[in-house]
Amino acid sequence: MGVCAIFPEDLFFTVRLHYLAFVFSALAVITVLLYVRVTGAQIRTKALSGWLIAVDAGHGGHDKGAWFPQQGLVEKDVNLAVAKELGQVLHDVSAAVILTRHGDTFVDLSERARMANAADAQLFVSIHVNRFPADPSCCGAQVFYADSPASKQLGIMVQAQLIAIDPQNRRKALPGDYKVLRDTRMPAILVEIGFATNARDRTLIMNPRYRQDVAKAIRDGIIEFSQWSTAARIPKNAADR
Ligand SMILES: [Zn+2]
Repeated sequence: MGVCAIFPEDLFFTVRLHYLAFVFSALAVITVLLYVRVTGAQIRTKALSGWLIAVDAGHGGHDKGAWFPQQGLVEKDVNLAVAKELGQVLHDVSAAVILTRHGDTFVDLSERARMANAADAQLFVSIHVNRFPADPSCCGAQVFYADSPASKQLGIMVQAQLIAIDPQNRRKALPGDYKVLRDTRMPAILVEIGFATNARDRTLIMNPRYRQDVAKAIRDGIIEFSQWSTAARIPKNAADR
């Protein structure tokens, strides 16, 4: 009888204690997670603070670049869309950005390099779409880098991020003998975001989600490069070559 009278109260007390302990633990875990998330986001939004990056949308105006009318793919338009997306995601992590063109206009290759040099940009990123009619199976985004160790490092880091968003991509960053890469003074890369001559790549290139993923992959490669160059004590403002 005595046991029956006391037991329910003890049980409720124990249950209530466990309940309170659970609620407090859950609140503590949520607080820690929120703190980590907010702090991480703050670090990330400042990731490229102090960097000035020139983003170059290839072709424009009468110069269409690669195109595949059946799917409405016109390189100059794709390049501009990706360049603007890249400008936005770089801006989101506090980088200052200059675009070599803002609309569908023709800009000479030497003028593109001159703009980046005159602005003292610390990095140059040109956006293009590849084509290789001789072998339509060629696919995957690929980075070409200017003739300097820092450009090569940047190219390798951006290529790794592009492979991370497309595991089928087997391409490697390679040296590229392009005028915009020769004429710019800062670390410089040219990113071919895929092949207009490959069916799979065309579907990717025409998908706004893929373009956004490409922009974020390039941004993440640049963030990694900025951390590497800081650790290697490479001054941001020095001309690369
Ligand atoms: Zn092109």
